[in-house]
This record gives sequence, C-alpha cells and structure tokens, in this order.
Amino acid sequence: MTTTPLTLDTTIRGITNGVLPGETCTPELAKGPWEFDATPGYGPGSSMYDVIPTGSPVQGGLPREYQDASTNELHARIRAAKETLGDRLVILGHFYQRDEVVQHADFLGDSFQLANAALTKPDAEYIVFCGVHFMAETADILARDDQRVILPNLAAGCSMADMADIDSVEAAWEELQSVYGTEPDADGRAPIIPVTYMNSSAALKAFCGRNGGIVCTSSNAKTVLEWAFERGQRVLFFPDQHLGRNTAKAMGVPLEQMPMWNPRKPLGGSTHDELLDARVVLWHGFCSVHKRFTVDQIEKARADYPDVRVVVHPECPMPVVDAADEAGSTDYIRRAVAGATEPTTFAIGTEVNMVNRLAAEYPQHTIFCLDPVICPCSTMYRIHPGYLAWVLEELVAGRVVNEIVVASTIQDEARVALERMLAAKPRD
Ligand code: SF4
Repeated sequence: MTTTPLTLDTTIRGITNGVLPGETCTPELAKGPWEFDATPGYGPGSSMYDVIPTGSPVQGGLPREYQDASTNELHARIRAAKETLGDRLVILGHFYQRDEVVQHADFLGDSFQLANAALTKPDAEYIVFCGVHFMAETADILARDDQRVILPNLAAGCSMADMADIDSVEAAWEELQSVYGTEPDADGRAPIIPVTYMNSSAALKAFCGRNGGIVCTSSNAKTVLEWAFERGQRVLFFPDQHLGRNTAKAMGVPLEQMPMWNPRKPLGGSTHDELLDARVVLWHGFCSVHKRFTVDQIEKARADYPDVRVVVHPECPMPVVDAADEAGSTDYIRRAVAGATEPTTFAIGTEVNMVNRLAAEYPQHTIFCLDPVICPCSTMYRIHPGYLAWVLEELVAGRVVNEIVVASTIQDEARVALERMLAAKPRD
C-alpha cells in the first residue's frame, strides 16, 4: 500500500489544473468532507450559503481508518470490494460527481438515466448511488423490492430539492385551491396541475401522483408542460423556477403570466388577480450551481473566443439562457460536444466536474466552464472515495449501511407521476 497521505483533495487539484486557470471559491474544498459534514450549511462549494432544512439526514462519523487512508489505498479497497461483490453490486455515478468516485462507477449519467441503468443489472442486489439523496430515492422507487439502494454519504442532499418541502407545497396547494377552486372548466381541464422537477423529494413526486400531476426532467420539460396544459388551465412548477420559466417562455407563455410563489408570503407574494391570470406558478427555488452563471461571463467568452459555442443548462437564469447559443440537459450538453465534427471552442454553463471531464475526453475541442471561479456542487461533492470504500466494505461484511428506503405508499404515488412522465409524448 502507498503511504501518500490524503492531504489535498485530488479533484480540486484536477480542477485547478483544468483547461483554463481558475480560482476555487473556498480553500475549504481541499478538506475531507467528514470535516464539514456536521457544520451548518451544505459545506464548501456553490450551495454552502443555502440553509439546510431541519430534519435533513446527517451522516454519522466515518470510521477513522477511512479518513486516514491514502488515496491509492482507498481506490485499492474499493476495487477489491467491487470484485468480491461482483454482479451483486452496481455503482452509479452522476455527471456532476467527482472523478475520484466516477472512476469506480458502472454507469455515468443524469439522475433518471442512472435510476434506469440500475434496472439493466438484474442480478444487482445493491445499488450504490454516487449522486444526491433525491436520486437515490428515485432509484429506490424504480428498483425491485429485493434491491437495496445505498447513498455513501447521507448528507449528500440537494439544496434545490430542499427548497420545496412537502409541508410548504401542501400549504401552497391549499391556498391555490382557495383561489382557483377544484372544479374543471367546460373543456374538462383541472384548475391547476402540479409538475415537479426530478430534483425533488419522493414526497413531492407522490404529491404530484395523487393530485393529477407529473414529474419532468430537464430533457423533457417541454413535453411534460404540454401534457399538463392539455389537462389543466395552469401549472404549479417546483422546485426550480429557472427550468420552469425557461421552458414555458420558449413555449410562448408571457413572463407576466408566470408569477413566483414565495412560500413565506401570503398567496406566494402575488395578488388574487395575478394568480387568476397565471399560466405557470413558479416555485421560489433554484440550483446554487447554475445560479452562478451570468451574461457577463458569456460576453467575456465571446470577446475572448469570437467563434465560441455557448451551451448552458436550463437551470441557469433566463438572461443567461437567452444569451447562450443553446440550452439543454446534461445529456444534451454531452451530446453537443460529442457530436461536433470540427474542432470547436465550447463555453459551458454547468457543473465544473462534468465540464472538465468533457474537456479531458474531447481534447480536439477547447472546452471551458463559463464560471472562472471553481465551485462544484457541494452536496454531490460529499461523496468521497472514503465513504464509497466504507459502504462497500460494509456490504462485503454483510452489513447494509446508509440505505435509502422510500415508504411504500409514497413509492406507489410517486411511481404514478413518473409513469405519466414516461407515457407523455412530444407533440411534434
Ligand atoms: S447541481 Fe444543483 S440541482 Fe444538481 S444536485 Fe447540485 S444543488 Fe442539486
């Protein structure tokens, strides 16, 4: 075994040695995640200033041997445990996950691709999800009853998902029903249809399932909104205001008909008449990673590289999406780069781990992150090889730790909303 101590996180080193020089948003990123798991906030990274709701899962202490192990020792232990578990195990890695973890994944993808990918390994008893909490919940909903889903660090939540908790959404729903009533119009359309982004808790997916609503991803948000408008006069879209606004605007919904719902204000901060006129009521949520991208960054990229192709994620604010050449999901961004036949300069507005991985994978292109300050998704970042080694070695020893279990009633209702999404077909 090597004796190299784990004094500096290798992903941060990798990021700062990336395609373009960048400073990190905080030197705290070089610490092991066990040093900030118990501190207030989500820890170093883009969402460090967001407030964690009370009752969020907290990771207990990681055994010292994993904290003290060298990088190479951790990788060797992960590989050995994987080999021992063989086909009984599948490891899933999200596009935004750090490279040190992704290298052990059997599948790399976005949250929904990964939840489905797990199903392609029918012998897998254990699904180790190297993403965040809502992703592991979705995998548990879609998995067989005998499959067990594990999140290596329970504190790997999602600040955006946490911005819409079930109690606030149910309270909002009641207020909206007091404005709209509950009876359908002459065309049989419900007064309002709830639509939740995949990046939300299982409880919210279940809420949509039992209230005639649906789930969407960043790839199919337009199709899902079309589905909802066929069945309802308007939509309550949560938790991400930006995905909702960008998608509805592209479909021709005027901004004046998209009021924001602030759960801390009566009627969400709108008047009764504004709500009556609404087509899409947008929840006051956002992704702290994608909120960092600005029009100034795009203008600078265009000044530095006149032929640059700017591709951003639809979780970015509307002015950024408007100023970009293209906007699309993580998979869209990956396909845009993979499909470029000529050497191209790409300025990308999404999480830095994914951008740097694309840059390494496609050296014929110049690829850089629009944000020069390196600030990864701090919650995803909490899955460190130390946690992965720990959960895998526990499995080898016959113990399941950090299992994510969604209650069966929630599962059933959430599955209804997910199945509606799968059945929704694009209009053209
Ligand atoms: S990138 Fe944003 S939406 Fe995705 S897991 Fe991180 S905080 Fe949540």
